[in-house]
Amino acid sequence: PDTITVQELANRMAEKGADLVKALFKMGMMVTVNQTIDQDTAELLVTEFGHEIKRVSEADVDIRHDEDVDAPEALKPRAPVVTIMGHVDHGKTSLLDALRGANVQAGEAGGITQHIGAYQVKAKDGSVITFLDTPGHEAFTEMRARGANVTDIAILVVAADDGIKPQTIESINHAKAAGVPIIVAINKIDKDGANPQRVRERLLEHEIIVEAMGGDVQDVEVSALKKLNLDKLLDAIALQAEIMELKANPDRNAEGTVVEAKLDKGRGPVATILVRRGTLKVGDVFVCGAESGRVRALIDDQGKQVKSAGPSMPVEVLGLGGVPMAGDTLTVVENEARAREVAAYRQEQALKKRTAQAPVSLEGMFSALA
Ligand code: GDP
Ligand code: MG
Repeated sequence: PDTITVQELANRMAEKGADLVKALFKMGMMVTVNQTIDQDTAELLVTEFGHEIKRVSEADVDIRHDEDVDAPEALKPRAPVVTIMGHVDHGKTSLLDALRGANVQAGEAGGITQHIGAYQVKAKDGSVITFLDTPGHEAFTEMRARGANVTDIAILVVAADDGIKPQTIESINHAKAAGVPIIVAINKIDKDGANPQRVRERLLEHEIIVEAMGGDVQDVEVSALKKLNLDKLLDAIALQAEIMELKANPDRNAEGTVVEAKLDKGRGPVATILVRRGTLKVGDVFVCGAESGRVRALIDDQGKQVKSAGPSMPVEVLGLGGVPMAGDTLTVVENEARAREVAAYRQEQALKKRTAQAPVSLEGMFSALA
């Protein structure tokens, strides 16, 4: 049977816990705010206080965001979200840095890019690309394991002087499993001993057939160090994105995914949210994983405060009640009561799961009995 603490019930009714305790006392029950009462007693109290009883099923309480689908006519083009993968030392970090430097916007403003876990690059032709700043397949698979498949396109970095390595193959497999199209960036072409053609040939063994070999996977020879052909790589991404016709509805309550989250000494809990659809605005009330909150400030990848963030835009969100986990979903809801209700429900669920999974040490039990 369902139970609820007196305090939680008071919160949901927007009444004082002490008043509920008093009412319970009149009903002949001696309980404190932290004690639980059963459903019948709770319902009695709710009517006693003149509130309406609303039975919420588990599915109702949790937000089923997959179920409300946007009308096709509401969809507008959005920037692709790109993840860079590949073997260690093949140049993932260098490429991310080089591409960030290729951002014409940052160049114009002379701005310093902030590390917020993701950033956007505006190419010369005006097209915008979002890069997830978490190189490597680990972050990618972790997010995916949490049901957050945010990547639209994977850039597979292969060093031209080193070729296909174990993590190259792993990256290929992860991208394939996620159904994410690959663009091959053959890096370090400035080096002696660079052999891009051999990379293309060896990729055939892993069913990556690049255009030069008669397939449809784009490949671009680059040098992250010498900043060669970065614009070609951006063009290839823009082309791939065009083929995919990536769209989202910007005119609705926002929904996003946590890319990174931390407890900041000065600012409290901070999360980088990649907006998936809708527009996130300052003042919005939301649920984020098992946390609730209200957007106090939004900060973009240039460290600038912004008033809102639309689809595919990464922003730092201030105003969380606690630190969520990477891969969690942020959903804007109608009011704070609703946000708290959903967050409380999710915290309860998480606790139940942890308790169920908690390993029981037999050894400890026996010594306790002895
Ligand atoms: P990651 O492990 O994939 O992130 O690789 P890094 O970006 O850390 O690069 C590993 C090493 O390769 C560093 O010493 C880089 O300076 C070097 N490197 C990266 N890209 C290039 C390139 O295009 N040309 C050359 N010559 N060296 C590169
Ligand atoms: Mg690195």
